[in-house]
Amino acid sequence: MKPPHPIDGPGTDESRWLDWGRAAHLPRLDLDGVRSVAVVAPHPDDEVLGFGGALTMLAERGVHVRVIAVTDGEGSHPRSPTTSPEELAQRRVEERSAALAELGVPDTDVIRLGVPDGEAGGAEAEVSLRLSGLLSGFDLCVSSWEGDLHPDHMAAGTAAVDAARACGVQLLQYPVWMWHWAEPGAAAVPWNRARRVELSDRAVSRKAAAIACFTTQIAPLSDLRGDEAVLGPEMVEHFERGEEVVFG
Ligand SMILES: [Zn+2]
Repeated sequence: MKPPHPIDGPGTDESRWLDWGRAAHLPRLDLDGVRSVAVVAPHPDDEVLGFGGALTMLAERGVHVRVIAVTDGEGSHPRSPTTSPEELAQRRVEERSAALAELGVPDTDVIRLGVPDGEAGGAEAEVSLRLSGLLSGFDLCVSSWEGDLHPDHMAAGTAAVDAARACGVQLLQYPVWMWHWAEPGAAAVPWNRARRVELSDRAVSRKAAAIACFTTQIAPLSDLRGDEAVLGPEMVEHFERGEEVVFG
């Protein structure tokens, strides 16, 4: 029998992360010299959950933001009786546009790679090659974390490592599902490479407004089985903090 996947577990309560308190003492990430950033998102919403607060503060400073969407997220409700994958992809693309508007990030430079949702694992070489053509000239690339345990997040992270190295671009990685499956201090997490971005109050509220745009993920599509919310309130709580953590 296959062991249960950690992402399917009940998850770590946000209060445990707050009680642990180590995140508050991580070294501060210096973004002062950054003039352009390319954010790699496995699914529409990951760029906002993982780095949306930093993005809104960078955009306020006039930093150019490129969003590279690996998949369109059409696989979030594979058993939905009401919403087809095509319709989900369309809605999620619109949700991201609305979320970026809440962050004050222009959505004029969103590039969709169109990798099938759930299939980025195994397509790392292709994704890496395409990223290489999109990262050159950027000061910074920020991708999902290659240790995040969600196959698409890991694949996008691995591809970004290769592409950033090939382009000579600095890379940071944001965790998303880690806050759910990991325990504070977990050995699987590279805390020694973790840096924190302290968010302004304004960034925290703009990020909350952006997350609220992802209705296909934070609310059920309908009352029917197969239409359940993907991100429950206990998951969303991890992204309402006054800081974001990235691995350098
Ligand atoms: Zn995701």
